[in-house]
Amino acid sequence: MVLAELKQPVSRLPGIGPAKAKDLAKLGVRTLSDLLQLAPREYEDRKTPRSFRDAYTAEYANTEAKILAHDFVGFGKKRTLKVLLDDGTGTAALLCFGRNFLARQLPVGGRIRVAGPFRVRYGELQSSTFVFEPADQPSREFGAIVGVYPLAGNLHQGDLRNAVRHSLAKHCSLLADDVPDAFRRRRSLDATPTSLTQLHAPDERGNVAAARTSLAYRELFYLQLRVARQALRRAGETREPVRLPLTLRRRAEGRLPFELTEDQVQALDEIAADVGSAMPMSRLLQGDVGSGKTLVALLSALPCIELGYQVAFLAPTELLARQHAETAANLLTPLGINVALLSGSVGKSQRKPLVESVATGSAQLVVGTHAIFTEEVRFRSLRLVIIDEQHRFGVLQRLAASQKGETPDVLLMTATPIPRTLALTVFGDMRVSTIRTMPPGRKPVITHLARHGNEQKVYDWIRKELVRGRQAYFVYPLIEESESLRLKDAESTYEELRTKVFSDFRLGLIHSRLGEEEKRTTMQAFKEGAVDILVATSVVEVGVDVPNATCMVVEHAERFGLAALHQLRGRVGRGEHQSYAFFVYSPDLTEDGKRRLRTMLEQSDGFALAEEDLKIRGPGDFAGVRQSGYLRLRIADLTTDLDLLAAAREDAFSLLNDDAGLLQPEHAPVRDTLSQLDSEEPALI
Ligand code: ADP
Ligand code: MG
Repeated sequence: MVLAELKQPVSRLPGIGPAKAKDLAKLGVRTLSDLLQLAPREYEDRKTPRSFRDAYTAEYANTEAKILAHDFVGFGKKRTLKVLLDDGTGTAALLCFGRNFLARQLPVGGRIRVAGPFRVRYGELQSSTFVFEPADQPSREFGAIVGVYPLAGNLHQGDLRNAVRHSLAKHCSLLADDVPDAFRRRRSLDATPTSLTQLHAPDERGNVAAARTSLAYRELFYLQLRVARQALRRAGETREPVRLPLTLRRRAEGRLPFELTEDQVQALDEIAADVGSAMPMSRLLQGDVGSGKTLVALLSALPCIELGYQVAFLAPTELLARQHAETAANLLTPLGINVALLSGSVGKSQRKPLVESVATGSAQLVVGTHAIFTEEVRFRSLRLVIIDEQHRFGVLQRLAASQKGETPDVLLMTATPIPRTLALTVFGDMRVSTIRTMPPGRKPVITHLARHGNEQKVYDWIRKELVRGRQAYFVYPLIEESESLRLKDAESTYEELRTKVFSDFRLGLIHSRLGEEEKRTTMQAFKEGAVDILVATSVVEVGVDVPNATCMVVEHAERFGLAALHQLRGRVGRGEHQSYAFFVYSPDLTEDGKRRLRTMLEQSDGFALAEEDLKIRGPGDFAGVRQSGYLRLRIADLTTDLDLLAAAREDAFSLLNDDAGLLQPEHAPVRDTLSQLDSEEPALI
């Protein structure tokens, strides 16, 4: 039995009913395996004695004391029991807010073991968050170092401690260590069962670090095993190298009203070298918003199409898929290439012939959302998959699932660059092309911050732009008024802007609850200039291209991450006119929010912003990697465990090089864990 096989739901544990199970799920804990990998955020030492005298400096007591007297403070409903104690070194008081019933369990004259934070208030040592038990009974809560866990909902520390204690006692001694002995010794790590025990109930405070390191290594080792397996698989799938025909590409390039930038040319060459090579491509094309990635991707598709293959182009939203399809059609239809748009909102009657054209190969470039990869869609000869703004790596998993055997070239595009370490972590063998320079003639967007309540100046500015014939975006984080968040909502402000502030202009509203058709019509009207102001939730975040729009107003800007703000700002400054971004923030913004907005004011370079984002959020959250589930690291932390990651990576690759099928008997626990992980989460391509 390996840790990953402890799949029993936590609701089977004594003391965990449906409500507590639900709260645990909020912490990502559904099974016993999850529970055992929930690391305490700190520890409380109920082992080392600390007298009341010590507590004056330590602000913590762990002692045995006599109950001297009961007292009450406050009146009426606020009347609160106060229990006076003496442990021989001094006196202290327990304040029982809302717990006057404790009087019976804390009888005057009795002796208790008591622990908790104690602070000096009104000239005496006091505690209101203490634990205690009668001193004349065997100890349950005392004499040990106990974990302090993250909580959710109505959970108490006791719920987690009991659940963990119970699970450890029942299962831990039966667990096989699923890190091979050789690696464990080489890296001086503890066996998994020992590490789990020491993580939750360390014998010594000093044992925690080693336990954590061992478990973090284990986690990274399995992450890297999956990466290594994919990398080796890919390397094994060699094919005939081909000389790529460039006739179509040259013709498309000849039709462009501008020259490609040097970086674009270089990226095109790098991609072509991969596509023509014996090993399937896995490449990331990174470049700031508007740097011309889409064009590079479309041009890269042409040699494949000329060879008679099909190319799929995935966009994160319907809106973008549509826009890419239009761009592609404008460029490629005149060359006789059949571009198809296959999106989720295409009606049943239209969908059938489309699916058919994909199956026969007559659709040469298929643009769409990840809805492309449903069971019914079969490509005749898919050679290249381009994935735009891949904020969700989950797409790759679907792709992998849909391919069954055939490995196409994969080109990922991103405007939020992925740090190299992370790229290696996720993809193992991914290469990177970078577009650093923007096409010539772009004017940097001028950014202003405005405090919520001071929007009038912003409105005045926008009015001037509208009068000149320009257009503006207003973006909101939410679509419905939420009392608890007190956020302005897109709908109600849309009404206010439409009827009061800009009643002499034409406004459109799009948000994610509207139907695709409605969104499309409104977007189209905005593109054509029939709408002056587009009020939207963050659906316009990525990729929308309307060069005449020069103003971007982001309300509650403090609620957006740097990557999102950068994407939003990238919606303007796409044409010849000077453009402006206004980030409107609430007065009660957090320190992090302030820092983000200041960064946006000072920085316009997407790469620099990405680095700053990395500092603020850590890599685990990068480009949505955390959401993908694939990197749902519980114990390891990629900001601090990079050395451990390197070690785990080396070991994982060496293990698979020696025993690719994990057939040696001592590798059986590794095989069990891997197959367990695979069943939870399909492998990446
Ligand atoms: P990205 O996908 O990187 O955000 P796009 O490919 O959408 O960027 O390009 C943004 C705009 O710049 C498009 O209108 C595109 O036609 C234009 N563009 C691309 N490359 C060049 C270039 N070399 N010179 C001038 N304009 C370009
Ligand atoms: Mg783009």
